[in-house]
Amino acid sequence: MSKKVLIVGGVAGGASTATRLRRLDEDAQIIMFERDEYISFANCGLPYYIGESIKDRDKLLVQTPEGMKTRFNIDVRNNSEVIAVDTKNKKVTVKSKDKGTYEESYDNLVLSPGAKALRPNIPGIESKKIRTVRNIPDTDAIKAYVDGENIRSAIVIGGGYVGVEMAENLKDRGLTVTLVEAAPHVLAPFDADMVVMAEKELDVNGIGLVLGDGVKSFQEMGDQLEVTLNSDATLRTDLVILAIGVTPDTAFLKDTGMTLGPKGHIIVNDQMQTNIDGIYAVGDAVEVVDFVTKNNTAIPLAGPANKQGRIAADNIAGLNVRYKGSQGTAIIKVFGLTAASTGANERTLKNANIPYKVIHLHPVSHASYYPGALQMSLKLIFNDKGEVLGAQCIGYDGVDKRIDVIATVIRLNGSVDDLAELELAYAPPFSSAKDPVNMAGFMAQNVLAGISHTTTWQEVHELNADDYTLLDVRTEEEFNNGHIEGAVNIPVDSLRNRIDELDKEKPIVEYCKVGHKGYIADRILSQNGFHVRNVTGGYTSEVSQKFTPSKLVVADEKSCNSKACSINRNAVKSMESSGEKYDKSLDACGLCCPGPLLQVKAAIDGLKQEQILKVSASDPGFYEDIKAWCKRTNNELLDLKKDGAYITALIKKGTGEKSMNENQATMPVKDNKTMVVFSGDLDKAIASFIIANGAASMGKKVTMFFTFWGLNILRKPERMSVKKGFMDKMFGMMMPRGSKRLHLSNMNMMGMGGKMIRKVMKDKNVSSLEDLIQSAIDSGIEIVACQMSMDVMGLRKEELIDGVKIGGVGYYLGEAEDSNVNLFI
Ligand code: FAD
Repeated sequence: MSKKVLIVGGVAGGASTATRLRRLDEDAQIIMFERDEYISFANCGLPYYIGESIKDRDKLLVQTPEGMKTRFNIDVRNNSEVIAVDTKNKKVTVKSKDKGTYEESYDNLVLSPGAKALRPNIPGIESKKIRTVRNIPDTDAIKAYVDGENIRSAIVIGGGYVGVEMAENLKDRGLTVTLVEAAPHVLAPFDADMVVMAEKELDVNGIGLVLGDGVKSFQEMGDQLEVTLNSDATLRTDLVILAIGVTPDTAFLKDTGMTLGPKGHIIVNDQMQTNIDGIYAVGDAVEVVDFVTKNNTAIPLAGPANKQGRIAADNIAGLNVRYKGSQGTAIIKVFGLTAASTGANERTLKNANIPYKVIHLHPVSHASYYPGALQMSLKLIFNDKGEVLGAQCIGYDGVDKRIDVIATVIRLNGSVDDLAELELAYAPPFSSAKDPVNMAGFMAQNVLAGISHTTTWQEVHELNADDYTLLDVRTEEEFNNGHIEGAVNIPVDSLRNRIDELDKEKPIVEYCKVGHKGYIADRILSQNGFHVRNVTGGYTSEVSQKFTPSKLVVADEKSCNSKACSINRNAVKSMESSGEKYDKSLDACGLCCPGPLLQVKAAIDGLKQEQILKVSASDPGFYEDIKAWCKRTNNELLDLKKDGAYITALIKKGTGEKSMNENQATMPVKDNKTMVVFSGDLDKAIASFIIANGAASMGKKVTMFFTFWGLNILRKPERMSVKKGFMDKMFGMMMPRGSKRLHLSNMNMMGMGGKMIRKVMKDKNVSSLEDLIQSAIDSGIEIVACQMSMDVMGLRKEELIDGVKIGGVGYYLGEAEDSNVNLFI
């Protein structure tokens, strides 16, 4: 006897189940109920239809009830909602638009009701100007509204995939769009160190971003809607798209005895069977096993829904097929950028208490010598055994294939060795002989083999800054264009020659732009006996996390009254004003930093004052780098545009008083202050610290280099037990131990002069030398003890006060190079 199979829900999971079952069982009676008019439509295409990338509405309708009947002999009942399930008597109650309410019996029931958009119960939520996007009627309504003449602005609430896609598509329609996200970042599947690239892309493309602020209420204000955020900021808009997540559409199953999860998801086994005999469930409405963590989760994506539908059909037809879990592989277009991820991210692994390691790399999409190579950022997460746990990739080209390859390796329980070994298609226009996926494998292998020693910025920030040397191994040009506070710069290419400038006793944390030069520096240093850690992701990772969105540009100046959304139209104006007139053009596409900057420098050198250079680059960092470079070199950045992966800048060579001569224009601005403190006299020590603190308070970087008698100022007052030879001991005993035992250079009067001057300073509210030293340390003044003098005078590091760095003459000279004041005291 033929089976009667009822299916609830006629889109991704439901339609897949129905068609697969028909292909397996020609005799089954298959009835598919769909609450709405349309079945088997392309949910994923809805935002692009609103944005008019998809112009023809019919293209969204993958199948029709008639088509399902003709080709698959499936009885599609649209406009028919299943409102109850009688699991005991195996029948459902259907509320039909045409036929009223009736019952239908079943042998098997497949539930694929999906998930509906969350609509929290907050004041004003009932407004018609607040829309959600789930199906064709929702889309038609939003599109009609956007097509109307009176709409200028939209606020998208929720920065998940649907929210970001809607923001982009509404922007494409010419609206002023603001995206409000309650979490600190959009696109939750990505870790904070990766997602910032996508946030920048939204920002650069004119999406107003409000991060870390949720919605408190809505209020109709004439033709507009006022949105009040938790911070009490208010925004006004013509349309709100609510995209804050979904909840399983399973209310009709409440009293059926079916096991539901804490959020209402249907619980199924690995054959997609519910706890009730004969009933299967698939898609957004079910809880699944996370393929990586093995914990229960819910992953509302089309791929899993379709596969689960197929598996339910297979099992109904008697094939024994199992679903092994979802790994959440997903991808999104963010204007010109592609962001994709697979497996677990750091947050998920931390929540699941699963230990992991991370590497970042920033390879190019294909051979860098072939035109059009574009940089991407790839993050790989793996464990001690080398098992691949997750990956995230963001870039302008070739992102999808890298994530798909890694997703495949995860699905096959592969390891970083597999990534390294994979033989992938290569010719210069497509990839590199060592594909980014191979590179990720190599890097992870190096970490596991102890060949490369990595750390993350997060781990670095947990360290005490005095306990390690922060070393920047990028070029001087890159360093001068911006670096991490407190870092010393020894470019990797000079590292072997300048290695003596580094203190072997202190661990070294080093970074480059993205991690590669840092790896080379790691190899040099670790083979020379240094304890070294290379920060994965380098300077790019740290700086990108400090991104703050531009001030909001709002359609109606009355519409914003908060600090968070002050109006700034200048950015928009500058983009329109320059008119693209230039004297020279430079194509720096395909070059990675500092390549574009070096070329800009050379090109600007060849121009006369006030002439304009137009430069195009594809290095993602160039957008920020060129701003800093122009500021530092007093050249004027007339315009900066980003079109997909390509950045164009118009730079006017510096003029007038602020301009510099040919050499200076490309030299770093030297504004640091250095001081050699040679004297151990109290008065000179006080003078040196007063000057140093004064300069620091004016925001200058100050380095004090203590040599010979000056070292006594830095000695600890207490006797330290350190191993010393006879001569060193004698020297130590004869010299004053610390600032409190220093003598005046004149009128010392057997120590009375020193006491008198301290009293006068106290009476006149002048800080003591000890306070001055402390405030120098607190304000970040570099206090460097001369290694050579310490050796000569037999002083050990342990005998010096905390916060003192040990350095050589080379270090001091390097600092002096960048200074415009250098004192000898
Ligand atoms: P659905 O496809 O939602 O189908 C469920 C159907 O069941 C609905 O039509 C509903 O009307 C019907 N129904 C519910 N209850 C009843 C009832 N009681 N009686 C009768 N009918 C009922 N995923 C991706 O992987 N990539 C993307 O790019 C992507 N983009 C998306 C964009 C948008 C705007 C949306 C809304 C979703 C997107 N998704 C994307 C998610 C993807 O569409 C879903 O994961 C997938 O459609 C889930 O399939 P499903 O069968 O579980 O539910």
